[in-house]
Amino acid sequence: MEGAADFTPFQEQVQAALISSTKTTGQIIAEDLAFHRSLDSNVTKSLDEQGNRLLNLTNSLLRIASSNNPDSPFSSNSRTKSARRPVLRDEESIDENWKSVVDVIDELLEKADACLDEFTGIIKKLSPSQQERQREKEKEKDEGKQGFPSMYSYGPSKIPKPQLLFDVPLNNADDGTAFKPLLKTKPHAIVPFEKSLGGSLSDPTKPYNHPYSQEIAEFTYPESVYKSAEPMMYQPVETTKATFVDTLEGVHAMLAELKKAKEIAVDLEHHDSHVYHGIVCLMQISTREQDWIVDTLKPWRAELQVLNEVFADPSIVKVLHGSSMDVIWLQRDLGLYLVGLFDTYHASCALQLQKKSLKFLLREYVGFDADKKYQTADWRIRPLLPGMLDYARSDTHFLLYIFDRLRNDLIAASEEAAGGTAEDGIEYVLSRSKECALQRYERPTYDSVRGRGSGGWHDMLSNSPVLFTREQFAVFRALHEWRDRTSRADDESTQTVLSKRSLFRIAQEMPEDKFAVLRFASPVSASLRSRAEEVAALIGEAKKNGATGPEMHEMIRRRSPAAQAARAAAAAAASPASPAAKVVAVEDGMDLDVNDAGVDAGVGVRTSVSQFWGQVEDTEHPQYSNYAIPASAQALQLSLPLPSMPVRVVEDNMPSASSGLDIDEDEDEDDDDDDDDMENEEEEEARPKTVKSNEIFTVKQFGVPQKRQGGAQLRSDDDETAPADPGRGFDMAASEILLDDTSADRKQKKGRRQKQKQRSSLGKRRREDGNEEDAMPFDYANAESLIHAKADDGQDQGKQGGKGKGRRFDPYVKLSNAPSGVKKVRKETAGRSHTFR
Ligand code: AMP
Ligand code: MN
Ligand code: ZN
Repeated sequence: MEGAADFTPFQEQVQAALISSTKTTGQIIAEDLAFHRSLDSNVTKSLDEQGNRLLNLTNSLLRIASSNNPDSPFSSNSRTKSARRPVLRDEESIDENWKSVVDVIDELLEKADACLDEFTGIIKKLSPSQQERQREKEKEKDEGKQGFPSMYSYGPSKIPKPQLLFDVPLNNADDGTAFKPLLKTKPHAIVPFEKSLGGSLSDPTKPYNHPYSQEIAEFTYPESVYKSAEPMMYQPVETTKATFVDTLEGVHAMLAELKKAKEIAVDLEHHDSHVYHGIVCLMQISTREQDWIVDTLKPWRAELQVLNEVFADPSIVKVLHGSSMDVIWLQRDLGLYLVGLFDTYHASCALQLQKKSLKFLLREYVGFDADKKYQTADWRIRPLLPGMLDYARSDTHFLLYIFDRLRNDLIAASEEAAGGTAEDGIEYVLSRSKECALQRYERPTYDSVRGRGSGGWHDMLSNSPVLFTREQFAVFRALHEWRDRTSRADDESTQTVLSKRSLFRIAQEMPEDKFAVLRFASPVSASLRSRAEEVAALIGEAKKNGATGPEMHEMIRRRSPAAQAARAAAAAAASPASPAAKVVAVEDGMDLDVNDAGVDAGVGVRTSVSQFWGQVEDTEHPQYSNYAIPASAQALQLSLPLPSMPVRVVEDNMPSASSGLDIDEDEDEDDDDDDDDMENEEEEEARPKTVKSNEIFTVKQFGVPQKRQGGAQLRSDDDETAPADPGRGFDMAASEILLDDTSADRKQKKGRRQKQKQRSSLGKRRREDGNEEDAMPFDYANAESLIHAKADDGQDQGKQGGKGKGRRFDPYVKLSNAPSGVKKVRKETAGRSHTFR
């Protein structure tokens, strides 16, 4: 294959071939092969030939797939130890080596997954046309650029971690040290630098101050901010000078220009998958005349602090849109602070605009249709693609004009409303902007004992309806802690190391050998693969200790939807995108006490009388505590007034994973602190704004995101592209596990299977789909005669192998009931297994 152009016809060909072979195999009954062989020597010959051919092909594929040859398209990441390559000699050896075959396939899927992850923002969402790609290639050739490997030809997993080259290395250690502001000097200081910090590196009770807290609290905005003025039209993009700044000289040249401006627009692009704390990748700055795109991944990024000469200058207004994360990122990575911030997001709130996203503002005020598909691109890529550069630029290019328009509208609105005080709307925006600029970043610590904090296990569990046994609960905590520790060590996000879904799944299953661990994780990260054995041992240990450990309800305080909403509202000002990042404003005063019992703080929203079931049992009463209620039902009872009933009913009534529920796999544990991208007004209408106590509610209400109350902050720009927020109400990744078979259910099935096995003299095959009847070989000795077939009495028709009387033999029944596809070990997919009955 030469390239992507040939792929579609090739894919169609392969697909057609696959479908036809699958169909054909489906029509031949494995058990009948011996019979066919005995009938016709040509069949025997042909079968042997084809069998050998397939075996050879399979061996070749396995060899290529598991080789470490760097030229091989399947070649492993050097960090990943390749799965052991199985050699298949005959039919039996397929069974014997099945585990290894699955391993190889798993590894392939993992690599594909990793590639897709990296490409998501670029290839899947962006799908640049062939022409654009061609143009980029040619451009690169023309400019003689090589340096950075093109992501199309090498694959994104080859992007080296830029942070490894930083002059000031990142510190992921969880050593209890406080975050010390990075700035070395303090331009535009009112309080001298030495006096403003306070704090102590080693004493967590004495954190450092926000170095500009006084300056931000006290400064006054320039007069122009309060005055209506003719909006200054933006320059056409085509004729505006745009500069990519990736040298120190470039920074200083830019700074000189910025100092001349009265207002500047600023935005950042950020990456948080392959780094523990997240990193700022780009900084876009626009004046009325020019645009700059600053590369913030340079080893000397600490030098960008000089920008405080403008950023901390109260006489130069900094216009940002939805700046709560930008403020945190600026101080965390670059030691930059904003004195004189005007956040256009708060302006759109004050004006009660229909939508508050930048995309909306661009459409309304500029007529520019921002293509937000780049929003989640991997911004570490260098050189940036032209499309990415344009996108980044458009985030700030028009913003000063929008600022003019919004400011005028605010002033006009205030004058109309109050008949005078022009400052109301503006004051609101300015005070919210000040609050935002005053946020302080703090290093995230991991609390393994109580699981507190936005990156801790407590919140993750309290947001999910899952109820673990003591053992599962202990395994969950141990795994969660392992994940944080490993992410720090490998400098990856926790979600990259082990997805939330996998975390719940493994805790539920508690696998104690490494193959099982890998089977329950999806995708399997390099971090996990190389430590599967360690994880298996850790699970065994946790399980053992968990037997005498605390019950989940003793440690987890389930947050009621109302309490969640309240908490979310309080936390609205800021939110970390990187899982473990912690913003002080969020934490202050929000700490719930874990140990004060498992009773939901939100009993108020629960009624003891169900409109549907009538009076319900008091399941919290001690007398019921010994009842063995299945975990899934128990979890439901925590929030719903259901009388006890068979699990099956509960499961069947729950919406299934495939029936339209959005299951978010990417979102991580800081869900409820996560920033609010939810600006989908239509959806907003469809769901209740607040859950009041005593109101009866339905699960569905909480299955959809709940709008944060009050000053919800907007991080991303587009409503249309904003992902479903999993953090409100039920945690769908976790409830999906709930929908899966309970262990008891599975055990029962297994029991049935085993009995079946004993009954069947030839029951070799392991069936996972519960249709054991199919596994019985055809009993020629006792089969009824086709020639002397009895009349149909309508009973038991089509049931093979049964002992029923009066059953008419149907020679074609196996054709229609033929097993389809591979029946070996089916990898279970959470929420989808055992639903094919
Ligand atoms: P923006 O302010 O829209 O330029 O976004 C800044 C950064 O926030 C992006 O570079 C992303 O890292 C992150 N971001 C914004 N929107 C989203 C989103 N919908 N999902 C995930 N990350 C996002
Ligand atoms: Mn931004
Ligand atoms: Zn942006």
